[in-house]
Amino acid sequence: MFGLYVHIPFCLHKCHYCDFNSHVQADIDWPAYQAALLTELKQWSTQTQFQHKQLKTIFFGGGTPSLAPPALIQAVVDAAYQHFDCAESVEVSLEANPGTVDMDHFTGYRQAGVNRLSIGVQSFDEQELKWLQRIHSVDEVHRAFKIARDVGFDNINLDLMYALPKQNIAHWLNHLEQAIALKPEHISAYQLTVEPHTLLAATHAKKPLPIADEDESLDFFWKTRALLQENNYQAYEISNFSKPTLKCQHNDAYWLYRDYIGIGAGANGKWDQLDGGVTRYRNHNQPQAYMTHIQDNKQAISFQESLDSNTAASESLWLALRRSEGVSLTWFEQRFQQKCHAMFGSVFKPWLQTGQLCEKNNRLFLAEHALVMVDELASQILDYDG
Ligand code: SF4
Repeated sequence: MFGLYVHIPFCLHKCHYCDFNSHVQADIDWPAYQAALLTELKQWSTQTQFQHKQLKTIFFGGGTPSLAPPALIQAVVDAAYQHFDCAESVEVSLEANPGTVDMDHFTGYRQAGVNRLSIGVQSFDEQELKWLQRIHSVDEVHRAFKIARDVGFDNINLDLMYALPKQNIAHWLNHLEQAIALKPEHISAYQLTVEPHTLLAATHAKKPLPIADEDESLDFFWKTRALLQENNYQAYEISNFSKPTLKCQHNDAYWLYRDYIGIGAGANGKWDQLDGGVTRYRNHNQPQAYMTHIQDNKQAISFQESLDSNTAASESLWLALRRSEGVSLTWFEQRFQQKCHAMFGSVFKPWLQTGQLCEKNNRLFLAEHALVMVDELASQILDYDG
C-alpha cells in the first residue's frame, strides 16, 4: 500500500512560528496549480515503483488546503482513482484553517470524497491566537467545527499547540478540555518549538522568549497525555491521540515506513528499493518554479537521494518507535532480510535491561514512561554503525 500527499502551499498570512513551505500570494492561479498537480500525478502513475501497490490514503496538507477550490480537490481525488489501483476504502484528509471556512467549501470537499478533516485550532485563547499570528478567532474555530459536522464530517482532528510563552499548565489544560468538549475523533497536541529560519527564531535571538524549560515541557507532555487518555483518546503516537480505530492512517503509514508519493510545491515522497534501501525526494519549494518544471514536461524534483538498506533500517526504527505499538519484528525481518536484534541488539541491550524498551508479542516498543526518550534512542540507532 502507499499514500499520496498533496501540498497546497498558499496561505493568507505567514505565521511567525511557521517553517512549513507556505507562501502568501495576492493572486493565486488555481487553474494553473491544479493543472500542474494533475500532470505530476500522471507522471508518477507511469513510474513502475507504484504500479503494483494499492493507494490507501490521500492527504491534502499545507499551507492552507482549505483555500483551494473544491473543484481542485475533486479533480485530484478523481485523478488518483483513475491512475492508481485504490483500496476499497481510501482515507482522504484535508487540513483546514478556521479563518478560511465556509459552508460551500466544506460541502464541496465532502462531495469530492474528503472523509477526514484536520482543523488547525492551535489555541482557545484570543490573545494566544494573536500572538501566534493566526488569522482566525476562537469563534471561528467553533463555527468551523459546527459547519464540518453539519456537512457530515464524522472524522475530525483538532490541531493544538502547548507551552506557548507565559502559558501555564492550568490554562493549557483548560484549552484541552474545550477541545475534548467538542468531541472530535482525533486530537494532535504539539509543543511550540522555535524553528530555525523563522521570524520567531529571529525575535527569540534578539530577546529570548519566556518559553518552557525541560521540566515544564515534561509536565505539559504528561498532563496532556493523562487528560486525553482519561477521555478515551488512545495515545497512538507521541503527539497524536484518537478514538479507537480512528487514528490518522496516512500519518501512521509514514511512521510505519510505507511508501508515499508527494505532489505539489515542496512535497516529499519516498519509495522502497529492491535492494532494501529507499529513495526519497523533495519538489521545488517555490510554487512558480514547481509549475514551470511541470509545464516544461520535467519532473519537479529539486533533491533526491538513496539510502542503503542499513540506513533505511535505522530510519524505519526511528519512526516506528514514536508509535505506542512500536515496530513489528516480523515486518522488520521481512523488510530488511535481517533480524532487528542482530542489527541493533547492542543498542537495545541497556534499554531492555532498564525496562525502557519492551518486547512483547513480537513487537518492540518504548515503555510509556520512556516515550520522552525516543529522540535519545533514535539518535543511538541512527549513529550505530554495527
Ligand atoms: S496557516 Fe499554517 S502553513 Fe500557513 S503560515 Fe500559518 S502555520 Fe504556516
